[in-house]
Amino acid sequence: MIKIEQLSKNFNKNEVLHDISLDIKKGEVVSIIGPSGSGKSTLLRCVNLLEKPTEGRIFVAGEELTAPKANVTKAREKIGMVFQHFHLFPHLTVLENITYAPIKVKHLTKEQAQEKGRELLKKVGLAEKESDYPNRLSGGQKQRVAIARALAMEPELMLFDEPTSALDPEMVKEVLDVMKDLAESGMTMLIVTHEMGFAKEVADRVIFLADGKLVEQGDPKSFFEQPKTERAQDFLAKIL
Ligand code: ADP
Ligand code: MG
Repeated sequence: MIKIEQLSKNFNKNEVLHDISLDIKKGEVVSIIGPSGSGKSTLLRCVNLLEKPTEGRIFVAGEELTAPKANVTKAREKIGMVFQHFHLFPHLTVLENITYAPIKVKHLTKEQAQEKGRELLKKVGLAEKESDYPNRLSGGQKQRVAIARALAMEPELMLFDEPTSALDPEMVKEVLDVMKDLAESGMTMLIVTHEMGFAKEVADRVIFLADGKLVEQGDPKSFFEQPKTERAQDFLAKIL
């Protein structure tokens, strides 16, 4: 589903990602962890070309996004993204937030989009909130709307950048539960998270980034219990 070949990314002279290669299979759930500033967000943003790689190639669902003639807008429709700070449209209701892109981009009728939107709201446990504006919702509810909104475009893969980091502790679980359901439904997911419990339980693979390099990867159990590199051992000792 995702193939990254020798990706490097510089911001001016600052090399933020260095020679990263990565293959992610359809249905795989991969957690990216690593210290602050290690390039996790930049890596995710390269996958949907919100950042342009300095070097290397990126393929999503068989298409090369980094090809000179790639239709990036079209390719991005396959990729849902959820951010730390929700980014809901404040002037639209919950249901309108969800139906906006399907109507505008996928040319669904309003009725089709609403039907699908209501289905998704039910899935994330917010059916009764469809007419509310985002400022009436808790952080956990906002993030669940953001997930439903991304899913409304029927993406083939979902990227999550610290989706629970801005939430009060009591709201973390409701969001992780939605993500867990999604993982179990077979969605391909790439998740930057500090929720080690979640990574352990839900991820098929953990990737450890430090200083812009892919330092270590493995199945969650081996990674958390027996990290191979000193860099990962140090990091885990600080956070666990
Ligand atoms: P992480 O998500 O792991 O905390 P980031 O990918 O956000 O790390 O950032 C990695 C490095 O890249 C940091 O040193 C950050 O300052 C730098 N960086 C990120 N985005 C930009 C940008 N748009 N312009 C310049 N530097 C950036
Ligand atoms: Mg980040």
